[in-house]
Amino acid sequence: MLDMLVVGGGYVGLAAALAVKQAAPHLQVQVIEAAPEDVWQKDPRASAIIAAAIKMLEVFGVWDEIAPEAEPITRMIVTDSKAGDPVRPVFLTFDGAVEEGKPFAHMVPNVAMVRALRRAAAEAGITIRHGVRAVGLNNGPAAASLSLSDGSVLEARLVVACDGVRSKLRDMAGIKTVTWDYGQSGIVTTVEHERPHGGCAEEHFLPAGPFAILPLKGNRSSLVWTERTADAERLVKSDDLVFETELERRFGHKLGTLTATGDRRAFPLGLALARAFVAPRLALAGDAAHGIHPISGQGLNLGFKDVAALAETVVEADRLGLDIGDLNVLDRYQVWRRFDTFRMGVTTDVLNRLFSNDIGPLRIARDFGLGVVDRIPRLKSYFIGEAAGTAARHNPRLLTGQAI
Ligand SMILES: Cc1cc2nc3c(=O)[nH]c(=O)nc-3n(C[C@H](O)[C@H](O)[C@H](O)COP(=O)(O)OP(=O)(O)OC[C@H]3O[C@@H](n4cnc5c(N)ncnc54)[C@H](O)[C@@H]3O)c2cc1C
Repeated sequence: MLDMLVVGGGYVGLAAALAVKQAAPHLQVQVIEAAPEDVWQKDPRASAIIAAAIKMLEVFGVWDEIAPEAEPITRMIVTDSKAGDPVRPVFLTFDGAVEEGKPFAHMVPNVAMVRALRRAAAEAGITIRHGVRAVGLNNGPAAASLSLSDGSVLEARLVVACDGVRSKLRDMAGIKTVTWDYGQSGIVTTVEHERPHGGCAEEHFLPAGPFAILPLKGNRSSLVWTERTADAERLVKSDDLVFETELERRFGHKLGTLTATGDRRAFPLGLALARAFVAPRLALAGDAAHGIHPISGQGLNLGFKDVAALAETVVEADRLGLDIGDLNVLDRYQVWRRFDTFRMGVTTDVLNRLFSNDIGPLRIARDFGLGVVDRIPRLKSYFIGEAAGTAARHNPRLLTGQAI
């Protein structure tokens, strides 16, 4: 019987397995992943990873491997205008440091992150089984048993569901969600530009949704471009000339000539918050617990915070000789994470509704609000600390750079 079985070998699943196994090497930890072994190498995306999550990656011993490919975000600019406006007045700027020499976030190519996490997982002795899905879940008094698509059954004291926003395990455990669809999709691609970005990230609030330009290594940026779903699908399939013309209307000419070099993909956007994060012998983490709008680039970071809180809960329970799958043990994790997650879900929802429109009085009110924040340095440093995840009073140890 396994001690912990992680379902889903994405960023959050790998990090959860690693966090527990490194702190408690005697525990038997396994990961099952539905996708074939090489699929992760084709992910064209990059993610903004906040300072607190980077501290955890440092404890894992993977940050030194990722850092050469990660671009620090040293500044952030926020504007509010229409797609074709020739000038975008800047309403808010942030200097992105939480402390001397520590930017509030880095842009990390997803491939670099997964490669390093997988290397560390292998070194820690974690088995990853590819190409098998979890298809059934049964709870016994001493273990949960999980049926897999290849006909085999695995037993574990604790199952951790990291199987993404459409989590089958969440459904199988009967956990309901608060869910809605924004009718928007996020187009993700990479662009090359003539001039350097200087580490500056920009978020343009446009009527169809936010358009974010996020710095990558070299003269390249990652885009998260929100449009109504039908428009996003049309743009993703359009030829290069149409795509680059539409891109230039939103991006502007500040960085010179643009070339859209990367794959284009559109991700439908919605909110999905699980009503419970735990059930007997089951914990949800990452998007399985909360899928949020990417407007603030916090989705994966929330998942990494789950990992830090869950690993600390599990490892401390194990050290005390408690059953790590017991609902009383898991409840500590749920209490730790639910409020923060709910708050972030509501914040991103409100921001998206407030900014994704062209209603005159609303525009005046929101631009006034941004202007106020811009003029009060203490308020700005508060927001930087919040965004970086370093301001929380009860951060799990991994998020402060300490081993469990
Ligand atoms: C456009 C866009 C931009 C974003 N930008 C950012 C950003 O800048 N910063 C940030 O923090 N977040 C960002 N996010 C959010 C981030 O991508 C997600 O929060 C993150 O991918 C969640 O990771 P996860 O491991 O929980 O889930 P996933 O990445 O969805 O991984 C789930 C894994 O489970 C596997 N799986 C599914 N079902 C089963 C099964 N039954 N059995 C076994 N395996 C299974 C899947 O194959 C997959 O590998 C963005 C999201 C979008 C859509």
